[in-house]
Amino acid sequence: GVAAMSEHSLKGRAPRRLTDAEFGALAPRELKARLFANENPFGPSAKAKQAIMDSIASSYQYPFMHLKELEEKISAHEGLGKDMILLGAGSSPLLTAAGVCFGSSGGNVISGDPSYDDMPESAEKVGAQWIKVPLTADYKLDLDAMEAAVNADTKLVYVCNPNNPTATTVDTDRLRAFCERVSQKTTVFVDEAYIDYLPDPLAATMVDGVKKGQNIIVARTFSKLYGFAGLRVGYIIAQPALLEKIGKVTKGPWSISAPALGAAIASYQDTPYLQDALQKTSASKEYLYKVLKEEGYEYIPSAANFVMFPLKMDGARFVEEMMKRGVGVRNWEFNEKEWCRISIGRMDEMEAFATAFKEIS
Ligand code: PMP
Repeated sequence: GVAAMSEHSLKGRAPRRLTDAEFGALAPRELKARLFANENPFGPSAKAKQAIMDSIASSYQYPFMHLKELEEKISAHEGLGKDMILLGAGSSPLLTAAGVCFGSSGGNVISGDPSYDDMPESAEKVGAQWIKVPLTADYKLDLDAMEAAVNADTKLVYVCNPNNPTATTVDTDRLRAFCERVSQKTTVFVDEAYIDYLPDPLAATMVDGVKKGQNIIVARTFSKLYGFAGLRVGYIIAQPALLEKIGKVTKGPWSISAPALGAAIASYQDTPYLQDALQKTSASKEYLYKVLKEEGYEYIPSAANFVMFPLKMDGARFVEEMMKRGVGVRNWEFNEKEWCRISIGRMDEMEAFATAFKEIS
């Protein structure tokens, strides 16, 4: 039956990306390879784990001090006032809050297509129009087209850099120039969830634009390279007035638990730990590239901890067949093609993927 899965053209049928609910229903609790959520399987650092243990005895206390300490650490490292940082239980509640905040007065929000949906989707739910701008031929955010789409009704432009799901990054100088111009017309939201995977995150961040007083919001998370998606810590950086506005629709910081804050404090900017995770990720990524090449598949070169490659079969069935073999990946449709997005896992996970992939491809 597997050999018959050759019909992969999107022409003449509706695109079928498995919804989150459908995907969740398919996924067993135990997988050989958990490669569907762009997590970092090398996990939290030893210091972070120790901090979690240490926080247990004092967990009857509200985490006032923890919040203050993490804000201070981020503020010292970034060279920003504490009033320019808003913490949240992951970055996604902050993305959603921004979407609600900027979208509820109507108008439109702009994002790449495909890109991460949290922000524009929540803006759409409260009444804004969602303008989706297709990617360039090399699968990057089309900054020129996004800028051209801005009009007097635009409330927010969402720039995901590196972009999820394509793992592509835009040229820093071009993005900086884009932010300078576009932030004079509307608010620019730069999601830097995967920026830690770039060779020089400090050079690529748009935080300097925030410092210059531009109308920019930068989002970061501890869910990716820091390796604790399950603990839920993220933050946004922007001018105080913007954060105040977003703060009205979220209790952000007060949703974060003391163990999660403790882990973030203990591992923030722990360079040796982060470098180690980066190296392991890059070794697994090279292995994946090799497997894909050997099987005759192309892929989009990745600037993050996941890779997109075009499938030669129905995407939903591909996901199901992989899942049957204990490998969790996700499918996508765009540019008249079906795609697989696979996270970069541990080497044993990549090997489990390779075995299953060779069976069904
Ligand atoms: N932004 C991007 C681009 C993401 O891919 C994700 C998670 N997949 C998030 C934000 C949200 O992550 P979290 O809420 O864990 O910070």
